[in-house]
Amino acid sequence: MEFFAFANVNNTIRLREGRVLVRLSDLLEAAPEPVLGAIAHILIAKIYRKPIAPEHATRYRRYVSSHEISHKANLLRQMRGRKHILSPKGQIYDLEEIFEDLNRRFFHGLLARPLLSWSRERARNSLGHYDPAHNAVIISRVFDHPRAPRYVLEYIMYHEMLHLKHPVKLRGSRRCVHSAEFQAEEKSFPQLEEAKRFLRRL
Ligand SMILES: [Zn+2]
Repeated sequence: MEFFAFANVNNTIRLREGRVLVRLSDLLEAAPEPVLGAIAHILIAKIYRKPIAPEHATRYRRYVSSHEISHKANLLRQMRGRKHILSPKGQIYDLEEIFEDLNRRFFHGLLARPLLSWSRERARNSLGHYDPAHNAVIISRVFDHPRAPRYVLEYIMYHEMLHLKHPVKLRGSRRCVHSAEFQAEEKSFPQLEEAKRFLRRL
């Protein structure tokens, strides 16, 4: 049995020439014994095609979805995953300059700057997104254009910066991405209406 650095939480079991080979995600290295017991039960049930006892399934799932574990999974994905981070400097706009300007104007300069990048494609379906696994904000290259007003790009960046400030909360089992606080703060962007109008015409 060995701990193995999978990119995601993953565990495998195989029977080879009378030996059982088990690979557990290294995320579970620090798991308490009852959790490891549950994983052993699940893997053995899998190999013999037997039903998994619900209490073991629950114990395992609860441990894996706990905050500490998902945080570590994020860090690992960040290190191992491949992601196309290009340059923050576009033909027209520099995302770092825009980030720092908004940081000063709206966040007292307190937000740590994530990786900033223009998207590879000129995506129209995704204006921008924040990727917590890579701590990166990706903005659609469509807005690196002389006819794209700066306030529209600022609004998109401001929205992603609010995601940095208000991490996704779990409310029961529902993910709350744009919380009430998030939405209230978004309304304080001065050219919110103009920016939305421009984006609707896009
Ligand atoms: Zn959003």
